[in-house]
Amino acid sequence: MTIIRSNRDILDPHMDSTPLATIDASNFGSLTFTGDVMLKRLPAEVFEKLQQTMRRGLPLDPAIANTVASAMKDWALEHGCTHYCHWFQPLTGATAEKHDAFFVPDGEGGAIAKFSGSALIRGEPDASSFPSGGIRDTYEARGYTAWDATSPAFILRTNSGATLCIPTAFVSWTGEALDKKTPLLRSIAAVSKHAMRILKFFGSDKGVSQVITTLGCEQEYFLINDEFYRERPDLRICERTLIGAHAPKGQQMHDHYFGSIPERVQAYMHAVERRLFELGVPVATRHNEVAPAQYELAPTFENANVATDHQMVMMHVMETCAPHFGLRCLLHEKPFAGINGSGKHNNWSISTDTGVNLLDPQEETHSNMQFLVFLCAVMRAVDLHADLLRASIASAANDHRLGANEAPPAIISIFMGEMLSDILDQLEKGEPKSTKKGGSLDLGSHILPNIPRHSGDRNRTSPFAFTGNKFEFRAVGSSAAVSWPNTVLNTIIAESLDFVATELEKKAGARPAPAQQQEAVWSVLKQIVSKHRRVLFDGDNYAPKWHKEAEKRGLPHLRSTAEALPILRSKKSLELFEKYGVLNNRELNARVDVLIETYIKTMGIEARMLTSLLKQQILPAALRYQTQLAETVVATKAARVSAPDTVIQLKKLVKMITDLRKAIAAVEQAESHHVAEPEKHAKFIHQKLVPAMEKARKASDALEAVIPDDLWTLPTYAEMLFVR
Ligand code: ADP
Ligand code: MG
Repeated sequence: MTIIRSNRDILDPHMDSTPLATIDASNFGSLTFTGDVMLKRLPAEVFEKLQQTMRRGLPLDPAIANTVASAMKDWALEHGCTHYCHWFQPLTGATAEKHDAFFVPDGEGGAIAKFSGSALIRGEPDASSFPSGGIRDTYEARGYTAWDATSPAFILRTNSGATLCIPTAFVSWTGEALDKKTPLLRSIAAVSKHAMRILKFFGSDKGVSQVITTLGCEQEYFLINDEFYRERPDLRICERTLIGAHAPKGQQMHDHYFGSIPERVQAYMHAVERRLFELGVPVATRHNEVAPAQYELAPTFENANVATDHQMVMMHVMETCAPHFGLRCLLHEKPFAGINGSGKHNNWSISTDTGVNLLDPQEETHSNMQFLVFLCAVMRAVDLHADLLRASIASAANDHRLGANEAPPAIISIFMGEMLSDILDQLEKGEPKSTKKGGSLDLGSHILPNIPRHSGDRNRTSPFAFTGNKFEFRAVGSSAAVSWPNTVLNTIIAESLDFVATELEKKAGARPAPAQQQEAVWSVLKQIVSKHRRVLFDGDNYAPKWHKEAEKRGLPHLRSTAEALPILRSKKSLELFEKYGVLNNRELNARVDVLIETYIKTMGIEARMLTSLLKQQILPAALRYQTQLAETVVATKAARVSAPDTVIQLKKLVKMITDLRKAIAAVEQAESHHVAEPEKHAKFIHQKLVPAMEKARKASDALEAVIPDDLWTLPTYAEMLFVR
């Protein structure tokens, strides 16, 4: 709809005069209250105590709160902050913040800056308007935020001011979790408890005070022109295009992936990276992704709690930076039909607090018993609870992606790669004897070096892949808050580590001698491998053949959110979360209620957006075109020329308009249909409303293909995806 003369027209006019973006190493984390900043500003013993909590997971000493608060306040004021906030992750999936001013009247006509230890430790936001799944009613408003000292406080700046943000947990007056951080922290503690037993079994617990999970999330996203975004109500309201005919070119040329990054996009990336750098979020990689206008950014991994907070900050920075470059950042899982959607590869591992990665196979993997124990525990967990993992990434948006256009299917399986698969084969028979080696590649030209080859290939189709020294859970959606999938993942791992530790201890005791160790390990692992290897699959996960095979193996295939979410309420699931102290039954049920409600509301909003778009923009454009054609026929006839082709065209158009009208009516009917029980309502939406919306989209897209450009009021796919 917009006439674009050249890409130059939409470039930032100031860009050429902008100095080169440089990153100064000393700026890393300069807007976070950690490391050097803390060291300089806190008395030595307070710094030491805080470090014990941050690094070693020791309980927080509340006596230090006043000193920390005062130092934080001075630091924040020096950086232009006027306000502070307890920053948390309610069940909405976004972050929440309520700002309080540092300044209070001093009673003598002036004001003083104040921030007490108790204000740092505890906040009291009204909990009644956040989703609580029935835990809190509107008349029961009290909720608390509690300082998470392990995640550094940071300063968020805008052009007009700055705010000190303090990462917190959010719980109700009853002590029940109303957020995503609390259960995540509980799940990490559960992993630690049982992983420590395994380290003890192998005598490798010396100096280790806790085990943590580590996390690095590759974030995929789209960037389009801000003006197109503003002109598409569906993008503004739903973050995805509900209609839109395919552009003549999609991603079939494979020319965007890893291609040279458009200049304006690079300018944007530099700005995002600089801001994140100051916030202590270490961005490691950037590149063009597969779909046109799609990109990716990945930070260096960190302890999962901090990484999760940083992930939320990262999405915030990505979204808020884009308009400065005339761009809009789309984090939705499927902003455009017919091309790849966006995911968030959840790279996950387990590590000691002394920095030993427990999923590092090392050289002679077959003899690395401790690694094999952790590996098999993961395999067992994923097999036993594939349904929960699937449910942990379920959302209306991810439904469009899973199983479509190069996204993993909704069947959860594990890719182990050649070297590990071979060792698992050996394990099934007893003690493994050898490790396959990758060797080296001779490139056939003497000026090129021989390069070492990995012992296994990569597999991009697997939803849960071992990638060298970590697992990559690839089915997570791009807009998701990663705390929830990681909570589920950690909980099922904790259960499995508990099981394995118990079996090992039964056979050989808690701290056995090497000979007994070996016997116990090989016999326990042998059983685990034979029982759970059905979850392993190294082939093409996109192939229909695999879907049949998976069904034969009895692996769950939960195709939609409506099917997947209720699984979280199963007896098996309630018992699991309760046993490991992650969520009690009320907390878990509340969470599922919120997830289902969110699905229903999202789809309701999409359906209403779709019908209003169709009625207010598409239908009027089609009718204007109908008038034009009719007038052409009349005028042509008046000139005594017959116009049979135009008559046919007009008749076809009228038929297409009728189809669209019928389709709109069907969507409206399905949308207004109310089912009292939310789970059934969600199923109804998936079975009836979603297909009706797809049909309406088809009718609209067919019209888009024939209606003249000057009558079409919306930016098209060709414009949104190819104007850079
Ligand atoms: P690829 O696209 O090949 O998977 P990237 O370099 O884009 O690789 O991303 C890999 C991600 O995995 C990064 O965010 C990285 O920090 C993270 N990662 C690496 N090692 C670990 C680990 N031990 N635990 C968690 N995440 C890790
Ligand atoms: Mg990856």
